[in-house]
Amino acid sequence: MSDASVYRCPSCGAAADPKAAACAYCGARLSPARCPWCFGWLDAATKDCPRCGAAAQAPPPGSKPLTCPTCRAGALAARALGGITLSGCARCGGVWADAAAFKRLCEDRSAQVAYLGEAVSPQAPSVSDPSAAPVVYRPCAACGEMMNRVNFAGGSGVIVDVCKPHGLWFDADELRRIVAFIRSGGLDLVRERERRELVEERQRLDRERSALLDMPSLDISTPHPITAAGLLGDLL
Ligand SMILES: [Zn+2]
Ligand SMILES: [Zn+2]
Ligand SMILES: [Zn+2]
Ligand SMILES: [Zn+2]
Repeated sequence: MSDASVYRCPSCGAAADPKAAACAYCGARLSPARCPWCFGWLDAATKDCPRCGAAAQAPPPGSKPLTCPTCRAGALAARALGGITLSGCARCGGVWADAAAFKRLCEDRSAQVAYLGEAVSPQAPSVSDPSAAPVVYRPCAACGEMMNRVNFAGGSGVIVDVCKPHGLWFDADELRRIVAFIRSGGLDLVRERERRELVEERQRLDRERSALLDMPSLDISTPHPITAAGLLGDLL
């Protein structure tokens, strides 16, 4: 078992600074990445995580391999966790979830525990302010169409990439932050905010409707209501 909190040079094994471009001992080029499963350091030149690579799951026969939307190359490795299957890229640490898997991860505590359970360091890695990062549209791992960028649950501060028919892409550490956000009660706060907004929206519509009743020729269609489930519905 290697220490996941220490990044090591893939060539000589010396502890290396993840911000350095080259190993201070042997000069080898460094490409640090976070393992999508144990969140520890690994080098992108390493084929799979030395700590949890053995748990990788062969894709079901006949299934089309998923391409990493960030690296735009390399097949994602699937992994079964707490009743769901996620696919991750060991090169950049990103994770792909289909809509059903992500919904379950949001709702099912055992899936959340299974996903976060292997975490080596709950605070790591630190992530830069998403608003400061350049906006990059990424192709869907399944169909290659450009995905939509969605601010998850409005207030989590995590921007995720969504292809409605296929699934969601989380850059390195984003899914861990989202699951941690959910486990800390973040969704309850969002639901409460949604409930308040729904009440206000109804009151506003009631006012509008009574104003419109004087104009019977107008078609008053009921707008799509915001519900607690709408949190996921909007996203997917
Ligand atoms: Zn080295
Ligand atoms: Zn790992
Ligand atoms: Zn990747
Ligand atoms: Zn797609």
